[in-house]
Amino acid sequence: MTATIIDGKAFAAKTRQHVAEYVSTIKTERHEAPGLAVVLVGEDPASQVYVRNKGTQTVEVGMESFEYKLDANTSQSDLVALIEKLNADPKVHGILVQLPLPPHLNSDLVINTIDPAKDVDGFHISNVGLLGTGQKSMVPCTPLGCLMMLRDHHGSLAGMNAVVVGRSNIVGKPMAQLLLGDSCTVTIAHSKTKDLGAVCRSADILVAAVGRPEMVTGDWVKPGATVIDVGINRIERDGKMKLVGDVHYESAAKVAGAITPVPGGVGPMTIACLLANTLTAYCRAKGLPEPVGLTA
Ligand code: NDP
Repeated sequence: MTATIIDGKAFAAKTRQHVAEYVSTIKTERHEAPGLAVVLVGEDPASQVYVRNKGTQTVEVGMESFEYKLDANTSQSDLVALIEKLNADPKVHGILVQLPLPPHLNSDLVINTIDPAKDVDGFHISNVGLLGTGQKSMVPCTPLGCLMMLRDHHGSLAGMNAVVVGRSNIVGKPMAQLLLGDSCTVTIAHSKTKDLGAVCRSADILVAAVGRPEMVTGDWVKPGATVIDVGINRIERDGKMKLVGDVHYESAAKVAGAITPVPGGVGPMTIACLLANTLTAYCRAKGLPEPVGLTA
């Protein structure tokens, strides 16, 4: 068997187009646009690239982009004051604080200062609780992107056995909650899971979010399963730097029914879902119907 490739790059482009059409209608009818504020503290090179990409794509879909680049030594109170200002700003519908923050700042406190209705990363404790109890929330972007691709590929996920490898708060746990919300039978695996290969082989849907290059090999994949590879790992191979996932693509693609590649799978969907979440936050703030196909 050779797996169908789930093209995250193309799906992300389609999702951005969908968002852009909504934004265009909002601009025509309401003479305003959803706004996303991104806050970066310090000069971490990877974070700078992410923030730049977020800003560019926000503008490309017609939204307003507000960027705040703060010095690495910014105090907790100054950062909190900025977030409170953005919470009160009617032009800002989504707020994202780029993580990781420098070590002297308390990330939990900072994230929980964001108005939950503007928390487009879905990390505020209120949104975590709402998602966990199956209520309307802002959903973390990476697992939302995975869910959208799975729904697009399968239609209904009800009754499928899903295994999520990884239990982080930003990927593994919310991914499991979303799959449960779509009536999958969900197993969460982690570093202490016994016989991980056997657990993975039970999955109709296998999501790998571990941060270990190519850990999930083809012999862990049930024939015909759908494999979602969240991992982004930079490794050196044949003297060159290369991006690989948490799944060993070549062997897994021979067994799986469908698979996301790295790069070009889950990664592009993350920013697309950030834009979708900003649009959703705008619609909720204005009492408008939620955008179709862009929420959990
Ligand atoms: P974390 O390091 O926060 O969590 C990793 C999880 O994997 C932990 O729950 C850990 O278990 C588990 N794990 C680690 N080693 C093993 C192992 N040998 N066997 C089984 N489980 C293991 O990572 P994140 O969730 O933040 O990210 C996971 C991956 O996804 C990374 O590669 C990251 O770069 C990528 N990522 C990609 C994004 C995208 O946009 N595509 C966005 C966010 C992340 P335990 O809890 O027991 O320690």
